[in-house]
Amino acid sequence: MQGNIPDDVRHDYGGKCWWCGAVADSREHRYKRSDLNREFGSGTWRDHDAVVRVVDGTEIRIQGSNSKNVKFEKNLCANCNNARSQPFDLAYDEFMTYIREHEDRIVADQSFELSHIFGANWTSRRKLLERYIVKYICCRLAEDRVKIPTSVIEYLDDPNQPYPPHLSIWLEIRLDIYDLMKQSNEDGFSGGSLWKGDMLVNISQSRRTIEEAWSFYGYRWLRINYRLDTRTRIGKTNFYRDKVQLPVDRNLSARALQEHFKRVKAEKGLPRGANPGDLPSKTDSP
Ligand SMILES: [Zn+2]
Repeated sequence: MQGNIPDDVRHDYGGKCWWCGAVADSREHRYKRSDLNREFGSGTWRDHDAVVRVVDGTEIRIQGSNSKNVKFEKNLCANCNNARSQPFDLAYDEFMTYIREHEDRIVADQSFELSHIFGANWTSRRKLLERYIVKYICCRLAEDRVKIPTSVIEYLDDPNQPYPPHLSIWLEIRLDIYDLMKQSNEDGFSGGSLWKGDMLVNISQSRRTIEEAWSFYGYRWLRINYRLDTRTRIGKTNFYRDKVQLPVDRNLSARALQEHFKRVKAEKGLPRGANPGDLPSKTDSP
């Protein structure tokens, strides 16, 4: 919710990479490219395969997974975005591929095991996954001009730090999205979905700083929620043990979500396809 964060509490990154301070000349994917390809295919998206990003009720047609519309503003340098974070990206892809392939069982069990995804080496792979998510969160914070605490940046470079400081990250099952996807498949829609929540903040009125910021990223029915709290250094995640127990939530009934998509398609005459992007803000409130 960029427009609602007052300008005087925002941080000016001055065109610099938020990670290392070099000139920011690279764009990280707002929707991860591998997630987009897994959901919608890697070619050009058009005609009956058209992919549309919905922002505040307006559709933006997306041509393919390398489109500018699915990337952040330039807020990293190429080295940090590529070489430096490549191990994080690989662990994330491994994780999401497993989630996609085993989703019915994971939703039914409301849990999964990290050792099933990453094998015997799961503790170190888990740290890489966590660092991918933290890097993503930092890109999002930088785009909304929320100041990233130095300790969060240091955490990305130190594999011995057990938790990302100041950050809570928790994975959850969104049953409303899961139901919608199943319903869409039955109706013949090729329903993939990626979601990004608004950035919500708490501002200290006396010190004119952002004390807390929170949002989420959704891949299909899996929501990665995150909250930055500058008042405490303690961070936590709910994917720390081998067996990860997933809380379950839904904001809207499957019926309400279905009505939303039906209305959008009817009004705009959208082709068959999927809608990565943002539902109306009431759906996005954590
Ligand atoms: Zn950099």
